[in-house]
Amino acid sequence: MLENVRIILVGTSHPGNIGSAARAMKTMGLTNLVLVDPECEIDGKSVALSAGATDVLNNHKVCATLDEAIADCGLVIGASARPRTLDWPMLDPREMGEKAVIEGQKYPVALVFGRENSGLSNDELQKCHFHVFIPANPDYSSLNLAMAVQTLSYEIRMAFLASKAYPAQEEEYPLSEEIEGMFNHLEETLKDTRFIVPAHPGLVMTKLRRFFNRARPEIKELRMWRGIFSSIQKSVISAGQESASEVDSDKK
Ligand code: SAH
Repeated sequence: MLENVRIILVGTSHPGNIGSAARAMKTMGLTNLVLVDPECEIDGKSVALSAGATDVLNNHKVCATLDEAIADCGLVIGASARPRTLDWPMLDPREMGEKAVIEGQKYPVALVFGRENSGLSNDELQKCHFHVFIPANPDYSSLNLAMAVQTLSYEIRMAFLASKAYPAQEEEYPLSEEIEGMFNHLEETLKDTRFIVPAHPGLVMTKLRRFFNRARPEIKELRMWRGIFSSIQKSVISAGQESASEVDSDKK
């Protein structure tokens, strides 16, 4: 199960933090490290601070985008140094650990950490099902990146050690790439109906992302929504054809 937990560091700029994060992971039994668009290279400082967790460091993967790093994940949780981000569903670290352990039995689970200077962007935060905040001192709540990795990895380990008591998960949730496919389909449909005007898209997609994310559709529900979008697209197209042929017959 712990192999299914992926620690994703987005846009990291200090090599030492990558090494310390690898050490933090290994102490808690996690091995799966992914760097998204890193702003630095792994160097001697990383190796020194990894203190022997060079296996984790050497096995890291690099992805150009967060989308690529989470495509095959069924649960994505973003770590945020702010208590409330974008009015998104929040977990405390303990709840995060339990969820990761329960869902990690079914598919890869991602825990996403942001940049040292600016955290995660709104776009990146919106790709997460939940946000997790370590309830630190309200006047000084931002932990060092690797320390945040340590704290949340510890919660995953504690939940893992207690996991025999958890009920099996019955819901079948889609993976991130299927969810992104659904959002693209929804956006195309709303452009077809002209609810979204490409020149002025406004916040429609952000609000819809929040709505669908809150509902967390299961696989069958997501497929039903795609069927609904296709049926809307078909009727928009045939209505367009009918009005075009009316114009034609007016001309005759
Ligand atoms: N200055 C940044 C914070 C960067 S800390 C900001 O304002 O967002 C680097 C990363 O460590 C954060 O993006 C987050 O993923 C993690 N982190 C730091 N403190 C955290 C906390 N209290 N709870 C959860 N994650 C935290």
